Amino acid sequence: MQVHRIVLAVSLCAAMPAFAQSSADLSLWRLDCGTGAKPVTIAERFSDTYAYSPDKQLPFTYSCYVVKHGNDVMVWDTGFVPGSNPNAPKVSLTDQLGQLKITPDQVKFVGISHFHADHTSQLPSLPNAQLLIGKGDWDGITAKPPMGGANAAAFTHWISGGGKVEPLTLDKDVFGDGSVVVMRTPGHTPGHSSLLVRLKQGAVILVGDAAHFHENYESNGVPAFNYDRAETVASLDRIKKVAANLKATVIIQHDPRDIGKLPAFPQAAH
Ligand SMILES: [Zn+2]
Repeated sequence: MQVHRIVLAVSLCAAMPAFAQSSADLSLWRLDCGTGAKPVTIAERFSDTYAYSPDKQLPFTYSCYVVKHGNDVMVWDTGFVPGSNPNAPKVSLTDQLGQLKITPDQVKFVGISHFHADHTSQLPSLPNAQLLIGKGDWDGITAKPPMGGANAAAFTHWISGGGKVEPLTLDKDVFGDGSVVVMRTPGHTPGHSSLLVRLKQGAVILVGDAAHFHENYESNGVPAFNYDRAETVASLDRIKKVAANLKATVIIQHDPRDIGKLPAFPQAAH
C-alpha cells in the first residue's frame, strides 16, 4: 500500500507543468510614462490595409511597468523623458520608483519591448540594470548608422560596455522559475518582445507594440510603420494562443482602455 502511494505521488509530479507557479512573492505595477496630448488619427500610420476611416481617432497612453520578484526588481519599458514632448510623463521613472521605495540601483533588469523612443528614453536613469532586449533590436541600435526609428542614444551606456546587456534570440526566463518571461514577438521591430508575468491572481501579458490598440489586436491589424508584416501577424497569433492557454489578461500598453486592468499606482497586482 505504501509503495503504491509513492508511485502515485511521483506520477502526479510528472504531470505538473514544467514551470510551476513561483514561490517568490511577485508584484506588478503600472507606471504612467506619458499621456497623449491629443487623440491620434489612426488611418494613415496605424493600418497598412486601409482598415479605418480617415476621421477615426483614438487616445493613446504610454506605460512603463515594474515587476518585483522577491527582492529583485525589473522595469519593463521606460517611456519618454519628462518635458521632452507634449506626450511625455509629468513624473520621472525614478521619482515613481521612489514612491515605491525602490532606488534605481536596486533595479536588476530593464526589459525593453523595442527600440522606439517612447519605450526607451529614460533608460539612462537605470545604469546598473542588466538590459534585456531582442537581438534584432540590439543589432539595429548598434548598426552604423543605427536602424531608422532606433533610439540609439538612450543605449549609449550599454553600447559602450558600461552596462550588461543580453541580446535575446530566444524567450528569457528572467528569474529562472517561469514566473516572468520575455517572449519573442518580433515584427513591429526586428527584435520586438512582450512580457509574460504569471501573478498569483493570474497571468498578464504586456504586449509592447505588437498592437497599439484593441482594434488592431482583435483584427490582426498591422501599422504602416512596421518592420515585418508576417512576423507581426505571427506574433499576434502567438500572444493570443498564450493568452488562451494561460487564461492571461492581455494589456495593450498604449491603449488607455487597458490602464484599469491593473490597480491604480501605487497599488500593485499580485
Ligand atoms: Zn510605442
